Amino acid sequence: MVPITDGAGVGTGLIIDGKLVRGAHGLPRRFAHLLVDPRGPRCGYGHRGCASRYLMSHVILRQLQNCTTYNDAVERTRAGDPDANRIFAEAGYALGVLIGHTANFLDPDKILLTGDGLPLYEIATEHVHNGIKNTYEDDPTLIDLDVQPFDFDEWARAAAALAIKDTITGNI
Ligand SMILES: [Zn+2]
Repeated sequence: MVPITDGAGVGTGLIIDGKLVRGAHGLPRRFAHLLVDPRGPRCGYGHRGCASRYLMSHVILRQLQNCTTYNDAVERTRAGDPDANRIFAEAGYALGVLIGHTANFLDPDKILLTGDGLPLYEIATEHVHNGIKNTYEDDPTLIDLDVQPFDFDEWARAAAALAIKDTITGNI
């Protein structure tokens, strides 16, 4: 299974037989920088049109005037604001591209989507699936996408459990 989290940052990992697999240098840190559009705007690392440039909640906020919180941006989109709708559509497409690349590369049983930026999926479902369709090289219905509401308490518990485990095993 591959979890993908979206919010202030974009995270991923690989879970095999219930265990989180680490790479040679820890968890992948640059997943959000996969290419979405070679003509797109540059991210803070100088990449043109990478997913982070569309997806992260602070990037979404920065593009909307007089919008201070992510919830404001979500509300504005739901109220039909055309700029907010375009920005969330682009973000949804970028998320779909990440999901498509993940499925191309790993063919997991399941892709679990969660994070405090999850309203993006609800708002831009069609664009997420367009991104998947344009990226995934096989039949998109093969992808088992499990969208899980974000629960901060559960998230914090899981992070604490991992930290405790790493401390006990010396794997810091
Ligand atoms: Zn980038």
